[in-house]
Amino acid sequence: MAPTITKIESREFEYPLEDVGTDQNGFNLVYDPGETTWRKLFGITIHTDVGITGEYVGGNSPGAAQINMFADYLVGRNPLKREKHWSEIKRALRKYDRMGIGPIDIALWDFAGKYYDAPIHELLGTYRESIPAYASTYHGDENGGLDSPEAFADFAEACLERGFPGYKIHGWGGSDASREIDRELDAIAAVGDRVGDEMDLMFDPACEYETFGDALKVGRALDEYEFFWYEDPYRDGGISQQGHRRLRDRLDTPILQTEHIRGLESHADFVVGDGTDFVRADPEYDGGITGAMKIVHMAESFGLDVEFHAPGPAQRHCIAATRNTNYYELALLHPRCQNTQPPVYEGGYSDMIDTIDDRGHVTVPDGPGLGVDYDWGYIEENGTGSVHVYE
Ligand SMILES: [Mg+2]
Repeated sequence: MAPTITKIESREFEYPLEDVGTDQNGFNLVYDPGETTWRKLFGITIHTDVGITGEYVGGNSPGAAQINMFADYLVGRNPLKREKHWSEIKRALRKYDRMGIGPIDIALWDFAGKYYDAPIHELLGTYRESIPAYASTYHGDENGGLDSPEAFADFAEACLERGFPGYKIHGWGGSDASREIDRELDAIAAVGDRVGDEMDLMFDPACEYETFGDALKVGRALDEYEFFWYEDPYRDGGISQQGHRRLRDRLDTPILQTEHIRGLESHADFVVGDGTDFVRADPEYDGGITGAMKIVHMAESFGLDVEFHAPGPAQRHCIAATRNTNYYELALLHPRCQNTQPPVYEGGYSDMIDTIDDRGHVTVPDGPGLGVDYDWGYIEENGTGSVHVYE
């Protein structure tokens, strides 16, 4: 008898980020002593008639709203038919960005792993069990943390001493008109001079720059220090194939795009359009583990590498089953405040700064499914009251 989904629950909860606030535009998370930012995530459970529950904690509000549109479809169906469900839901959400697929697909993979008593990376086909991590910083602040080019260089050196083989700067942003761009250039030089010979360096303005001109100017500075990649520089929002092809034509530093475009075909089109060197994927954003692994193999067919966005157990399983990838993104790190990881893991899983070994690697969980134990008591106690039950 095939297993059957009996009930799906989506439960919103919040948790505090101490000494974290937002910068002047109100969007970037930055170190801000004494400030507390409340972050909302979702606990997803997929119940079945075989006594095994698929679980995932993560997601975002727009995605959760999409789950409302398709959860009823899954109830009564076989949780192992992921490709079929992926395809049906992808069509059902064709007017939207399909972010809702991710958390549900990951929970279905968690179910499958528990059903077959195997970690997800083993079901996918294990390539590696230990993954080099790069330290990915919070955005630059004005509050005594990462508040100067020297502070970024000091933190890079501290990360090198911990064993990290790579370091990614999220700067302050800024516009050329106000000359703030000079501080970005100074940070590139300070970090490049300090650790450039010993670490792979990445730079991610997170689409802050107002002009293609600024994107080019910063890219030329990265060329001088031979950065490993340059990611999402300017205000096209990371989606213009034309803009990034022209940027690639003018720079030596490899470009990493596609964090902000959704879906397999759009990623393929971006590669064919010569808009990127490295391909970005995220199981939460890109249709779950099913969707992310399709992007991995699409990139493999072009001879390109996929760099996964953000830390998390789903990312670790995907990377563990991928040849064509370089790093795990341990984000967001800072010398004075904690990572943004939710306090929902029991049993040792961690994405905090000290989770790496002395080679700067993280390991992939080896328990069944995602291989993590969620603290459902914490999730329920810190619920926002927004609970959806589909049965
Ligand atoms: Mg990014």
